[in-house]
Amino acid sequence: MILPINFKHQALAAEFAELRTRNPALYAMTAAAALWVWHEYRQHTTVTSIYRPDDTDSVHAHWRGVDVRVYHPGRWPADPNATIRREEEEGWSEEAAREVALWLERAFDYDGSESHDVSITHGEGMNRHVHLQLGPWSTR
Ligand SMILES: [Zn+2]
Repeated sequence: MILPINFKHQALAAEFAELRTRNPALYAMTAAAALWVWHEYRQHTTVTSIYRPDDTDSVHAHWRGVDVRVYHPGRWPADPNATIRREEEEGWSEEAAREVALWLERAFDYDGSESHDVSITHGEGMNRHVHLQLGPWSTR
């Protein structure tokens, strides 16, 4: 294993590779979060969105946001033997999302003014995800 990161679809793997040069700090923060969750919870990270050029009001239009899936039981039946669990469908547990956010807020800084969190969990149901973000400094 290089990094315990999966991608919702294959184009995101190329975007994540591009993020390494577009926003090295956010790339490193995402990798650090994935490793932290893997070591603490043995859960894979699934990246669901990175660059959204048309979403102009969002940090995602500027290579400053990465979305990571939070597990929802609707993705497969409650009986784990009833279906094939695919790593891309798993995502982080709510507990892992909560705990890694506490660590990320200590380890990383949005913009030096503490005006924004670097890790926000939001969305409902199968859309629930952790939004990782850094301030404008990170792409300069
Ligand atoms: Zn987001």
